[in-house]
Amino acid sequence: MIKIFEVGPRDGLQNEKTILSLADKVWLVESLAKTGLKDIEAGAFVRADRVPQMADSEELQTKLSPHQDVNFWYLVPNRKGLERALSKNVKNIALFTAVSETFNQNNIGMSVSDSFTEMKQMMARVKSLGDIKVRGYVSTVWGCPFEGKIKPAQSLAVLDQMIALEVDQLSIGDTIGVANPVSVETIIKPLLQNYSSRAKDLLAVHFHDTRGTALANALRAFELGITVFDSSIGGLGGCPFAPGAAGNLATEDLLYLLKEMGVDTEINYQKICETGMELSRRMKDKTFTSKALQAFIANCTKNTVWDS
Ligand code: MG
Repeated sequence: MIKIFEVGPRDGLQNEKTILSLADKVWLVESLAKTGLKDIEAGAFVRADRVPQMADSEELQTKLSPHQDVNFWYLVPNRKGLERALSKNVKNIALFTAVSETFNQNNIGMSVSDSFTEMKQMMARVKSLGDIKVRGYVSTVWGCPFEGKIKPAQSLAVLDQMIALEVDQLSIGDTIGVANPVSVETIIKPLLQNYSSRAKDLLAVHFHDTRGTALANALRAFELGITVFDSSIGGLGGCPFAPGAAGNLATEDLLYLLKEMGVDTEINYQKICETGMELSRRMKDKTFTSKALQAFIANCTKNTVWDS
């Protein structure tokens, strides 16, 4: 089974100028939870003055109704964020670091090594509880907005370090959308070899469509054997250090490709597109980057056929 990890409500909205109301966020996450998606990144326990888009994650978590077999995930940057999440009965958390030192300093004000020290302490706390699932994000695996190209060996070392923390899932991020199918292979192949016995749910890829290569990269990762793919409804998101650039791989585009290839995800394409279309309306008719969604909307507008 191929799994799509929906990051729109957090990674997507965090990088959007328009701040969605709490009611709209609840609608969005609840709608996504009814599409067949099993994993949805709903929010983040970060500082409201730094990330105003995520200021109401506590309330969001309280308002969400439980959905069978759907996991709601929250990003936590440090021990303080972790405690806030735990106090709201969050069961799925995401930690993050980057390969690039400069990116880490700019993003979280910490060296890579210090971020691992912090994460180790967070993992100790999580393990003491026993029922929390952890996802570890590693950013700038293929390139950094400050340092340029990153050597594969440097990336692989940080990715190994994240796995060594005993996270349940590792999300391998192309933060600025510079990977290509060949460089994807350079990173993914050794990981699949080294962790072959448990690679299935452990390894996830997180591609950005900054230069239009996200879907090609996802396809290559799929062919290599990756089974978990991060994507964002509408293609929402971006990079705080590249204003105006396209964002995450769009869920509609990824799902369209998979379903047309006959790959089952148990996710309803029409429901995903209807959610994307309604979200666009609620974001003041924002045009989303997803090509599949644009086609779906075009057909809907003409009231001809559903692109189901
Ligand atoms: Mg992203």
